[in-house]
Amino acid sequence: MPLMRSWVDSANDPAAEFPLNNLPYGIFDDGRGARAGVAIGDFVFDLGGAEAVSMVPAHGFRDGSLNGFMAEGPDAWARLRNTLTGLFAEGSQAEAQVAPLLIPRDRVTMRMPFQVTEYTDFYAGRHHATNVGTMFRGAENALPPNWLHMPIGYNGRASSVVVSGTDIRRPTGQLKGPEFEAPILAPSRRFDLELEMGAVVGQPSYGPVSVDRADAMIFGYVLLNDWSARDIQAWEYQPLGPFQAKATATSISPWVVTKAALEPFRCATPPREVPLLPHLADTGPMLYDIDLEVAITPEGGREEVIARTNYREMYYSSAQQLAHHASSGCPMRVGDLLGSGTISGPEKGNRGSLLELSWGGKEPLELEQGGTRTFLEDGDRLTLRGGAEGDGYRIGFGDCTGRVLPTLKG
Ligand code: CA
Repeated sequence: MPLMRSWVDSANDPAAEFPLNNLPYGIFDDGRGARAGVAIGDFVFDLGGAEAVSMVPAHGFRDGSLNGFMAEGPDAWARLRNTLTGLFAEGSQAEAQVAPLLIPRDRVTMRMPFQVTEYTDFYAGRHHATNVGTMFRGAENALPPNWLHMPIGYNGRASSVVVSGTDIRRPTGQLKGPEFEAPILAPSRRFDLELEMGAVVGQPSYGPVSVDRADAMIFGYVLLNDWSARDIQAWEYQPLGPFQAKATATSISPWVVTKAALEPFRCATPPREVPLLPHLADTGPMLYDIDLEVAITPEGGREEVIARTNYREMYYSSAQQLAHHASSGCPMRVGDLLGSGTISGPEKGNRGSLLELSWGGKEPLELEQGGTRTFLEDGDRLTLRGGAEGDGYRIGFGDCTGRVLPTLKG
């Protein structure tokens, strides 16, 4: 599909993150209260204002979250996308009515796009799981015995999911390593990022669902940074998995890119080493070809990219993760957020965490601007970016950024 041209000129730039083909949803505030909006070129289209004058159907766009709209379901999602495409297409008769509801994006503050009802994080990238397993258990036993049979995950905290731009406090926790005789309570010394995609569940379930049904339940995708304290995790994780190591914060990008916008970029999961059980079997292409990168900006320094990878490197799709999550009968809710797991690729420059980039701290990452990193330092800003490259256009997500602040003294 080529670029769909719009009368909003900035949406037609091939480098624009938000062409007419994209139309992602978010919650913005321009000083007049939080409302839902759609990104188009350099602007936000005020859906709350459009709802107030019946330009678009009423879906709770002045409620401060997208949950009400998501709950309406796939038919409503498709109808609104169709309406918006008509309003913004080149030659649209609606330009004079629509233009007053466009607000420059650089004049708004983005809020959390939806109320996160539950947050689950998976461990479904094979390169990441192999790298981490090799570091801790050796190459022979890198993948846990269950790994090729199901997407393994843990129940995280919805309360600590924050929108891009929010500063992140370095966590304090219990640390116990070979260098300490007894555990100590101290700021994490191995604080890290994890480059992930987040799937936003837009429809509920009350029992097991097929992979196809799970795919239909997903409203869209965001970039996700699952901030992780490796040293807290190393001491606490057996036998119940990560707890405080992952509870500090999870950052998401402010725009939810819909499944409809990503449709042209679907691609298959990799060949299966062992056949998947029926509830997880692949039924069609459910990953997406989305280029991803991680950039670091040290305090007082400049931004530089430290990793590049692609979402198609995942072993399990979000639809498979959701089908597995619901397989026990676990009810899934509107606003459930599923983290993909860290997305690394086969090469060293494709690694989506400092744990892997510095190989557990043993091989410090050399920054181009000078200096090295094993793990994050106070003042570091981390920015995730992602984009699907179409024919003369790009589907962007907006930055997912956060800066590490020193630990708060208790
Ligand atoms: Ca994670």
